[in-house]
Amino acid sequence: MKAVYDSAHSQHDPNFVLVRGQVQKSSEQPERANRLLAGVERCAIDVIPSHNFGAAAREAIHTKRYLEFLEHAHGQWAALGDSSKEVVSNVHPLHAAANYPESIVGRAGWHMTDTACPIGPHTFSAACASANVALTATQCVLDGDRFSYALCRPPGHHAYTESAGGFCFLNNIAIAAGHALKTYERVAILDVDVHHGNGTQGIFYNRSDVLTVSIHADPHNFYPFFWGHANEAGADEGLGFNVNLPLEIGLGDDQFINALGKAYDRISAFDPGMLLVALGLDASESDPLRGLSVTTDGFNRIGKTIAEYGLPTVFVQEGGYLSDVLSDNLAAVLSGALHT
Ligand SMILES: [Zn+2]
Repeated sequence: MKAVYDSAHSQHDPNFVLVRGQVQKSSEQPERANRLLAGVERCAIDVIPSHNFGAAAREAIHTKRYLEFLEHAHGQWAALGDSSKEVVSNVHPLHAAANYPESIVGRAGWHMTDTACPIGPHTFSAACASANVALTATQCVLDGDRFSYALCRPPGHHAYTESAGGFCFLNNIAIAAGHALKTYERVAILDVDVHHGNGTQGIFYNRSDVLTVSIHADPHNFYPFFWGHANEAGADEGLGFNVNLPLEIGLGDDQFINALGKAYDRISAFDPGMLLVALGLDASESDPLRGLSVTTDGFNRIGKTIAEYGLPTVFVQEGGYLSDVLSDNLAAVLSGALHT
């Protein structure tokens, strides 16, 4: 197994987040990556740099106007004068929005589903680097490795084709899946972050070449609220190719492993060439955003269970926030996979 890392992530250091209407410091801090890297090093896994796969890989998933918005938003926002240090939208169109706006304030609303994705001066370059980390790890498996790990920051699974949200800007795992589809007819994405992978679901909702399966805390009372429910099964050609397995808030190891068994049944029937795992670690009992109660031993069992699926597998980092066991939990997943 190789791990892919790029220090460019550290230039994206978001401050703003609204929690129950109160301004707080974002949980998505650069220190997360330091602790994740410590977890990788504990497993004696080789850490390699990423390659630049260029704009085409991003454009295969995201719209051109969204990518242009991400690239230029901060400069345009700063040019307004008397504006905040980060782009944070104060307008959010509902579904019936009629026209794509010219104003950067309007575009921020169009392209940001919530206020948890502030754009700073280096956000776009960090997001591109994060996507390249996922692409490089995917290439390792395409080249014959059984497993690889992408230390992606910022994360990606809440980003849609043309919108940021929930700390995410580019959907790293979707971009990686797009790359894998050049080799394989079918690719499966299994999302084990405590939050539903709504962006990933949205990107592939009408497609049958990418199966999306997500295990997460029940969104009736948890972010992202509007998506992640069991009745969302895909549409059109994609009907039956999206599976949501919400778990009641607070459940722990045994219920999570049970859900992985259900996920396996669907994934094995799909017979993908590759499995991409959206590896959030925020289902931890110690995570500050906690929705579930998975222990470090539980994360080890998650790594083992996924390895027992028997598929070439890329682990792509999603959430997982600062706690004393963040390094331990990553090491537990990766060592569980390696020793199966
Ligand atoms: Zn999460």
